[in-house]
Amino acid sequence: MGSGALSNILPPPSHYNKDKVKDFIHEGEWDFDKLSDILPPQVVNQIMSIPIGDPNQLDYAIWIPSEDGHFTTKSAYVDCCNTREKNDMRNKIWHGKIPFKMSFLTWRLVQNKLPFYDTVGRFVDNIDSNCVCCKNMKTETINHVFLDSDVASYLWKIFGGPLGIDTRASSTINLLKTWWNVQTHNSIHNVIIHTLPILIFWEIWKHRCACKYGDQKKMWYRTMENHVWWNLKMSLRMTFPSFENR
Ligand SMILES: [Zn+2]
Repeated sequence: MGSGALSNILPPPSHYNKDKVKDFIHEGEWDFDKLSDILPPQVVNQIMSIPIGDPNQLDYAIWIPSEDGHFTTKSAYVDCCNTREKNDMRNKIWHGKIPFKMSFLTWRLVQNKLPFYDTVGRFVDNIDSNCVCCKNMKTETINHVFLDSDVASYLWKIFGGPLGIDTRASSTINLLKTWWNVQTHNSIHNVIIHTLPILIFWEIWKHRCACKYGDQKKMWYRTMENHVWWNLKMSLRMTFPSFENR
């Protein structure tokens, strides 16, 4: 579709992998009814707008990273750099010193795989789009909850401020890049910069779910702050077994 695999834009589970594109083409045209059977209307409309091409012409390869579709070493180099950046981020998220559940949350977050209004709201009817993180209710998008909400602003400021980090960001990926581009001065500083954003994401998610689906009535800022401190100390102790609790 020009914007990546369907699985990247559909909410999980998206098990359409047994179907072939040709099964959705009838007499040289997209089969609207068949597409509509398994895909949301917005995606169907996107697909319907893609030209199918001449069935009498042979298929030929197109190199997506370049603008004209032809392979160049420069475009391959740029593509490799982007891949390296993605690998760096993946290695930082899936780090042995970070509990699996927290890494998994951050991974789902940067992949837009969490069920929020801006990710699944388009496809699911009657989704509760009100946030539980602010004094004045807002629409519960990923960026709102994890970056801009009252509680997120509080936590990013409390932890990022003393470290001199500007925690305003347009996306969770950009926020992670900001943190992880900080020049660290020693191994302890390095662990702090590496783990804190993941710990903060986790704390926000945990309390958001407890408020939304459990008995918790509100976000307790100081409790959340203390939990992040505690988890940070645990990460430091795991990395440096002789680290003292100060
Ligand atoms: Zn909110």
